[in-house]
Amino acid sequence: MLAKISLIAALVAFAAAAPSPSASPAPKASGAPVAAPIIPIPPFNGTFANAYPPQDAIAPTDTPLVKAWLAALNLTAVPDFPVVPFTASGDPQNPTSIPADSCDWTETNCINKDLTTCPLGVWGLTYDDGPTTFSEQLYDFLDTTNQKATLFYIGSNVIQNWQAARRACGAGHQIAVHTWSHQPSTSLTDEQFVAEVKYTEMAIKELCGFTPTYFRPPYGDIDNRIRGLLWQMGYTSVIWDYDTNDWMMAPGGTRTMAQVDAAFAGWIANAHNDTTGHITLEHELYQNTVDAAIANLPKLQATWKTMPVSACMNDPHPYKEKNITLATMNGTTAGVAGTTTSVSSSTPTGGAGSQPSTGAGGKAGSNSASKSGLAKATFVVALAAAVALF
Ligand SMILES: [Zn+2]
Repeated sequence: MLAKISLIAALVAFAAAAPSPSASPAPKASGAPVAAPIIPIPPFNGTFANAYPPQDAIAPTDTPLVKAWLAALNLTAVPDFPVVPFTASGDPQNPTSIPADSCDWTETNCINKDLTTCPLGVWGLTYDDGPTTFSEQLYDFLDTTNQKATLFYIGSNVIQNWQAARRACGAGHQIAVHTWSHQPSTSLTDEQFVAEVKYTEMAIKELCGFTPTYFRPPYGDIDNRIRGLLWQMGYTSVIWDYDTNDWMMAPGGTRTMAQVDAAFAGWIANAHNDTTGHITLEHELYQNTVDAAIANLPKLQATWKTMPVSACMNDPHPYKEKNITLATMNGTTAGVAGTTTSVSSSTPTGGAGSQPSTGAGGKAGSNSASKSGLAKATFVVALAAAVALF
């Protein structure tokens, strides 16, 4: 929770410096060729059909759209825990007043159906707070090994950097929601939280043609009231077990790149002791967070199978539009039913660089998921032999 105020201040400063929606898009950073889309996305002429809240402002609750969204929910079924007042520095004003049965993650690490890890040997690769003007550098690098990730998008940023958003949608990354204005979720009323999620969802739908079903709370701030609202809206919440603290690098704080690199190095050195896989917290927020992500990804790819959270959960349908399929760990193919753009991808991590190294393979061989995979492979070989015989 430390330095949260700095992060908020940096977000505001970044927002102030960002171009308006009508301004010319920022040029792609690297000039590298963009991979052909896997998921077809609808045409978009640069003008949004719907009206959206101001950038980084808490979404309003009195618009006809929000009223319709609220009317579709049964708010009486949502646990009635109080809104948590926060300090200007981004912490609860009175943490001891938070009810224990609210299952508040940031204060007590309480989990209630939230996803926090992937299976042993798998690294759930996630990047938060995009899209930004730095995002395309990251997407270029991900393309070099056909690496897919989960991208938790801020609605305000989706409006500002819609070109990057559309690219990521088409590339087959898992697009997920991270609220409209990046407030601590428990500091919002039911109505504000619903508006924050639904406006973000609507922006992604306009740009990409699909509706996310995965959500990450800013700062990991979630309790049973927020979960109740999310479940009503059809969302799965994702937190993390490994925080890179990359968001604490300048301008968000004083953490150094060496400290962030050391965190990755420590996890990698300890991988042989893993009892679970992981879900990480990284950001596409600043140039330095993107630099850290790019520098460390090959090392992660050499140690774990790296993939989006939906892939490690073997969820082929992380969008409400069930004709859209994203690649999963068990070999599901990414594509859209009824189109010709389906791309075979038995390994959602993509390129050879994403395969476990010899050492990691030895580790992975000792886990149940790998045993299951080995059994499946054996069965396939046996089946093939039987077919050959007959
Ligand atoms: Zn965030």
